Amino acid sequence: MTPSPEELAKVEWDAIVIGTGMGGATLGYALSRAGERVLFLEQGENYLDNPRALRGDYMETMSPSRPDASEEDNFRNGGRWRAEVHDAVNNRYFRPFLGAGAGGGSALYGMVMERLFPSDFAPRRYHAAAPSNELPDRWPISYDDLRPHYEKAEELFRLRSEIPDPQRKGETPRHVQAIRPHHFATRNFERFLRWKKIGVYTPAFACEWKDDCRFCQSVLCDKECKNDAARVCLRPALERHHAALVTGFKVHRLEANRGRVTGVIGLGREGREHRFHGRRIVLAAGALATPGLLLRSRSPDWPNGLANGSGAVGRYLMRHLIDVYFLPSLWNFRKTPHSLKELAWNDFYEVDGVKYGTFQPFGKFPPGDLAADDLLFELKQSVPGWAGKSLEALRPGLAVFLEFLFSHSGCAAPILEDLPHRENRVEEMPPGPDGRERVAVHYKISAYDRARLKRFRKMIGRVLFPYPFIRFPMADTCKMMAHACGTARFGDDPATSVLNKWNRAHDVENLYVVDASFFPSSGGINPSLTIAANALRVADHLTQENR
Ligand SMILES: Cc1cc2nc3c(=O)[nH]c(=O)nc-3n(C[C@H](O)[C@H](O)[C@H](O)COP(=O)(O)OP(=O)(O)OC[C@H]3O[C@@H](n4cnc5c(N)ncnc54)[C@H](O)[C@@H]3O)c2cc1C
Repeated sequence: MTPSPEELAKVEWDAIVIGTGMGGATLGYALSRAGERVLFLEQGENYLDNPRALRGDYMETMSPSRPDASEEDNFRNGGRWRAEVHDAVNNRYFRPFLGAGAGGGSALYGMVMERLFPSDFAPRRYHAAAPSNELPDRWPISYDDLRPHYEKAEELFRLRSEIPDPQRKGETPRHVQAIRPHHFATRNFERFLRWKKIGVYTPAFACEWKDDCRFCQSVLCDKECKNDAARVCLRPALERHHAALVTGFKVHRLEANRGRVTGVIGLGREGREHRFHGRRIVLAAGALATPGLLLRSRSPDWPNGLANGSGAVGRYLMRHLIDVYFLPSLWNFRKTPHSLKELAWNDFYEVDGVKYGTFQPFGKFPPGDLAADDLLFELKQSVPGWAGKSLEALRPGLAVFLEFLFSHSGCAAPILEDLPHRENRVEEMPPGPDGRERVAVHYKISAYDRARLKRFRKMIGRVLFPYPFIRFPMADTCKMMAHACGTARFGDDPATSVLNKWNRAHDVENLYVVDASFFPSSGGINPSLTIAANALRVADHLTQENR
């Protein structure tokens, strides 16, 4: 029988891990495998072996089959964060598409797990013309420091790829050979790109490609096919290595003196407060939630927020500049739910000594009516009163158009590295009138990043020509927050960073942060593999410290 929170609160844990996403589950797994007593605290649900979980499709599509469930239940059972983000620069709200529950964002992710490039670890060299001095010269660790942990993470998440990336000469990633046959349209596109002298490759996927795999991007997998942090790390930690998990537990703040965290306090499922104790406290609540937790943990010893001597907590937010491209003609107007996921290129990762990013496929899109809802929610904020309400009339037509576009086009989402700026930040905010959690985000694209975005778009347009495409300039909005990072960055200088090179808070001897907050620059590629590899690196360090 699972022990109650009251019983678990009596234990002095070796490590308490807050959040079971990519960083938290991976680190907790590695520590528990090494014999440490680990407690995971997670605000969402555990979708594994949970009959209430909404898997295999969008929770919005499945929820009508659960008329007894509240909206909040549906978000929880669909593995989704129900929060609203206030885009403070444009004074509008949006609902970020993020994970909450076992596996965090990885339970919904597109399963592309790629290494950063060595150049990402010395970012300033590739952005010599960037006017701000907020970009560090280098990360406190090098690519070679992370390399063995990349290899371990690649094995752990059973990554599969097929065509190697010509831009990564000399690397030997630990990938299992891909087994998925290419869609005919992908083969045509590959031929076209090669003719354009583009170095196409297959991105590495954390996917078992089971026979009837539907590529559950954005939704919980219903086939034990997606290798996310819940299946790969959390489950074995609980089942084989005696870790414990409390779900539905929202950590509210950490109690600390000047040098140590002494307690973890939050509200359990039944609305009761609990306090847990551990030798080490590991924050892994994600780059949008971790800063709020530190800021809420103010005390006379830490008047500006715990571990916030530098004032950097919540600042230097990055999110990648991601546009969405639809390529209708590519797919002969046939339904192609996931085939474009098979090709990517990194020819523009670095051009003329300047870093840009990767061109990557997107995979599955939401149903048209869901996307129409979202779009109208935002449009109505710009058009007040009756005019805004009358936009409702557009809903059916918009839904049909979007559904047609999404289901009959190839779709890609190139990722451009954005640079850190102190003014770009996450701040705490009181909940909305409907009780939804709210987070304020201040994010402006700098002139330097805007100029690179323009050039990146031009270079991509030239490659795709003469394929017709529709570009949704999503990079211009704050909506794509899935790659948020940087809000508790690591570095060697305690005056400008929150964490040291072992992801330990400067001046707080038992507090670690291992989610995406630690990135001092965002790189031009998906973050998950780096988060996982870094968590394994930190875990190795902690277990060696014990010896
Ligand atoms: C739809 C989608 C597709 C994506 N595709 C890819 C991809 O293909 N490749 C890639 O590399 N990345 C992808 N990402 C991004 C990737 O999932 C994230 O970068 C990654 O999961 C971040 O890991 P993390 O450890 O920082 O935090 P998260 O994985 O976000 O985990 C944080 C966890 O902490 C919990 N938590 C938060 N606050 C509290 C609290 N107060 N108390 C208790 N628990 C709390 C949350 O519920 C959550 O479970 C995608 C994300 C989404 C949403």
